Amino acid sequence: MNKSAYLTIDDCPTKDFRAKMDYLSSKKIPAVLFCIGKGLEKYSDEVIYAIKNGFIIGNHSYSHPHFSDIDFEQSEKEIEKTDNIIDKLYYSAGVARPVKLFRFPYGDKGNDETKSQVQNLLRNIGYKQPSNFAFINNMQEHSADDTDCYWTFDTAEWAIYDERCMYGIDCSEKVILRMRQNLFNEKNIILFHDHEETTNIFEEIIEEYISLGIKFSLPPLNV
Ligand SMILES: [Zn+2]
Repeated sequence: MNKSAYLTIDDCPTKDFRAKMDYLSSKKIPAVLFCIGKGLEKYSDEVIYAIKNGFIIGNHSYSHPHFSDIDFEQSEKEIEKTDNIIDKLYYSAGVARPVKLFRFPYGDKGNDETKSQVQNLLRNIGYKQPSNFAFINNMQEHSADDTDCYWTFDTAEWAIYDERCMYGIDCSEKVILRMRQNLFNEKNIILFHDHEETTNIFEEIIEEYISLGIKFSLPPLNV
């Protein structure tokens, strides 16, 4: 069966970001990069380089909080500060910003008081979920009316160094085994991370996606 996927990489950019983008470019793999504002400020040249190479920069908040732990005013700052930084980086790269995409840190969409306010805010400042994201996504916590971008498959490579040892994963072999046992959808929104702790297995995981027969493309940018 032919399988296709959108590759989304969260928590960018970190120290080895440029090398990772060069690797993806060499494999002709496009990706949406959900970036943290703090990292965008620290590694701005690398992000401009990624923009010029066709990668899409998404908003992943400024400091990566749990949105259910902060009030609406703080949520607004987290989103708008990073939105402004992304605008400036596209301007510096000389590239028109093609789309505004947002992903909540930890997939945490806020608490009962803030949830719908934050969705409205995102909508009001031009954020949209690509049309087929909701179609592909059948997870209960995500709705087609939501403005943010969720995922269908978490690579879960972060679990190797997470103290909770989520999914029983404590080594790259188990990450890969889980990919082989779970990736049966025809279309996937894959979540992967730009973490320094797993830089050494970044290429190995992408190679595995390729050998599982997955073809990567960009989501529709006219959302
Ligand atoms: Zn994150």
